[in-house]
Amino acid sequence: MLKHQIVIVGGGAAGISTAASLLKRQPTLDIAIIEPSESHYYQPGWTMVGGGVFSPEQTRRKTEGLIPRGVKWIKAKVTAFQPNNNIVLLEDGQEVCYEMLVAAPGLKINWAGSEGLTEHLGKNGVTSNYSYSYAPYTWKLVNELKKGRALFTQPPMPIKCAGAPQKAMYLACDAWLKRGVLNNIDVSFHNAGPVLFGVKDYVPALMKYVERYGINLNFSEKLVRIDGDNKIATFEVSNKEGVIEKIERPYDMIHVTPPQCALDFVKDSELANEAGWIEVDQETLQHARFPNVFALGDATSTPNAKTAAAVRAQVPVVAVNLLRVLNGKKANAVYNGYGSCPLTVERGKIVLAEFGYGGKVLPSMPKWLINGLQPSSAAWFLKKVMLPKIYFGAMLRGKEWLVSPTIDPSRSN
Ligand code: FAD
Repeated sequence: MLKHQIVIVGGGAAGISTAASLLKRQPTLDIAIIEPSESHYYQPGWTMVGGGVFSPEQTRRKTEGLIPRGVKWIKAKVTAFQPNNNIVLLEDGQEVCYEMLVAAPGLKINWAGSEGLTEHLGKNGVTSNYSYSYAPYTWKLVNELKKGRALFTQPPMPIKCAGAPQKAMYLACDAWLKRGVLNNIDVSFHNAGPVLFGVKDYVPALMKYVERYGINLNFSEKLVRIDGDNKIATFEVSNKEGVIEKIERPYDMIHVTPPQCALDFVKDSELANEAGWIEVDQETLQHARFPNVFALGDATSTPNAKTAAAVRAQVPVVAVNLLRVLNGKKANAVYNGYGSCPLTVERGKIVLAEFGYGGKVLPSMPKWLINGLQPSSAAWFLKKVMLPKIYFGAMLRGKEWLVSPTIDPSRSN
């Protein structure tokens, strides 16, 4: 049996950053990261790939080069958590024992959640920026389309980066507008939810772009089927009486944001809540029933926006609290739900949504530099140039830029 003082499940944005932040505080820690993938993806860059701004390669690095020095990389898939025995189980049957566990395996992109999607993705006009492989196809379709119908879908919440379905649409519309073909393209947004964006303060700025591009907005419409051969998408729509009807919509291109849920092995574990997410205190990120377990990132039950920006704010909270618990103290660092969604409303401009629990607007930049309620080119520069550097050069290396954790004295012992 393998044994480590701290075991981190998942070497994505959250897992690697947490290892680095822990080691910055205490370099002698014995940490292992369990991660099966040889490649690490900067997923926030996929919107830019779909918009023809980044190449896919810019968003991919070798995992090996990102694992912090001194951390053991166990290249394997976890198949089960056994928190009562302080063990995680690997695919090959091996057990890994821990004193403290950090669970950060992300979420499941449920491509099978809409019938026909898996078969047709990447051909017949069906694309998605939610995949490294297919984000380039979005840009290809945008470039090729001169007239016809373009549909953009959004599934029920929660999803990673709730603004990403719209980002794909605005960048496509901007390209069509600049090429002089937008008037010949019927663009529509089909959202399973009831509103354009969950934090209402940002809606007026987004609506200006919806009007500029002539986008038809459709709410409470869930994509259930794609017939790629005939280019028809079927949506479930509930009418005013609450009766669900099916509507077929022809398309020339469709950008699909796939349904998302908790990973199966997480859902089946004792760490999960009823919905399948890892059940943690939304402030301390400590597990609700297992005090030596922390979780962060897309896998948790916390009601923040599932973003890398949220991870950046969660990492120091977990690092501080985990080390306190390891030393017999109570977790006292608190996370305020911060998350950020840079909405790429046109090439060169972004509406930078930054908010915490309850939709409270939480700007991190001075208003003179970036007023998040208005489109700004400074925010575009931040997304295009600065954020990838901050991600790879700071966050994954334990440098906690603008995210000192708040300490709640009432939780201290
Ligand atoms: P991930 O980064 O997904 O990492 C999870 C890791 O766990 C992976 O490496 C995976 O291989 C590993 N894993 C999975 N199963 C197992 C297993 N069984 N055993 C061991 N390891 C396992 N965020 C922003 O802040 N701004 C944006 O603009 C933005 N835009 C986005 C646009 C798109 C199209 C997408 C897809 C995401 C976007 N995000 C954005 C969201 C952001 O990328 C995620 O919220 C962030 O990556 C979550 O980090 P994580 O570590 O929880 O999950």
